[in-house]
Amino acid sequence: MRPSTKGALCGLTAALLAGVSAPISKLFLSDVSPLHIAGLLYTGGGLGLVICEWGRRRWGGATVDEAPLRRADLPLLSGMVCLGGMVGPILMLSGLQRLSGVFGSLLLAMEAPFTILLAVGWFKEHLTRQEAAGAVIILLGGGLIGYAPFGPVGDLIGVLALSGATVCWALDNNLAQRLSSLRDPLAVMKVKALSAGLVMIGIGCFSHDRWPEAMAVAALMGVGSVSYGVSLVLDAYALRFVGAAREAAYFATAPFVGAVFSIPLLGEPWGSREVLVALLMGTGVLLLQGARHVHLHTQAEVEHDHLHRHADLHHDHHETFGTGAHAHQHRHQPITHDHAHVSDLHHRHPHS
Ligand SMILES: [Zn+2]
Ligand SMILES: [Zn+2]
Ligand SMILES: [Zn+2]
Ligand SMILES: [Zn+2]
Ligand SMILES: [Zn+2]
Repeated sequence: MRPSTKGALCGLTAALLAGVSAPISKLFLSDVSPLHIAGLLYTGGGLGLVICEWGRRRWGGATVDEAPLRRADLPLLSGMVCLGGMVGPILMLSGLQRLSGVFGSLLLAMEAPFTILLAVGWFKEHLTRQEAAGAVIILLGGGLIGYAPFGPVGDLIGVLALSGATVCWALDNNLAQRLSSLRDPLAVMKVKALSAGLVMIGIGCFSHDRWPEAMAVAALMGVGSVSYGVSLVLDAYALRFVGAAREAAYFATAPFVGAVFSIPLLGEPWGSREVLVALLMGTGVLLLQGARHVHLHTQAEVEHDHLHRHADLHHDHHETFGTGAHAHQHRHQPITHDHAHVSDLHHRHPHS
């Protein structure tokens, strides 16, 4: 399977799992504060990943050779945790209090375009014209699903706070891309989910939200362990396979999945709008998937440690490891070659 196909499958499945959790958590909104809902979903996700990691160590044996997290990753990891897990949610909450609900959730959809802009403008990713068109079409669909006529919008501080939150998450996505390209996605996302979850529960308690009943806590953490835990790891693989810009486009289908699943759960009607959004998002995904980017490119000299195989065009550094996947510190000599590629770890070259 091509890496771009693997990335698409991971990204779309991650969106599916995250999207499904939205209408489920809406069922709890009457009894549980939004902050506790988000916190419990994330904490459940983190605990789910702790269990997965334990199971993998217990039964997976030596089948997993991902490079573990290490001290040198601390700046990236804490950047991710602070921006995505703390500053982002706090800005979002203070923003939402000052804005109308509909306008607020439309603004939150800006996370994906900001992620793509940062990825292409700052983190040296590249989208072909066809892929950029696909991303724009998916984002239009996302805006359409959330759009409703809004009366008074709210104040400027609210808009700034909410936009700030989406910029935080856009940065968080790009940092997560760098980290999960190199390190074990399970370990990276476990730290992210647990820290974000506990911080949000903490803020919830600090602002005197009523602690939910045991049944709600168990249900939310159960949903979180599957939908957030698994979704975050799949998302990390999508980031690794295709870069943050494409991942953001695939993940932007999540609100649509949420809307589709709202119908049986909440009895919300399907209309012509949903049909149009489905067409837009399907077209966008096909455009992203059908793109091919081939040209002569040079990989700069770099030394790093990550999971790789020696048969993959970029890692013919020695023979002693055979053909299996393994991780170790290795140096890439500058190499110029011509093959189809997407913006993964080894393809951050300039494009004119
Ligand atoms: Zn290229
Ligand atoms: Zn490498
Ligand atoms: Zn090797
Ligand atoms: Zn080597
Ligand atoms: Zn290459």
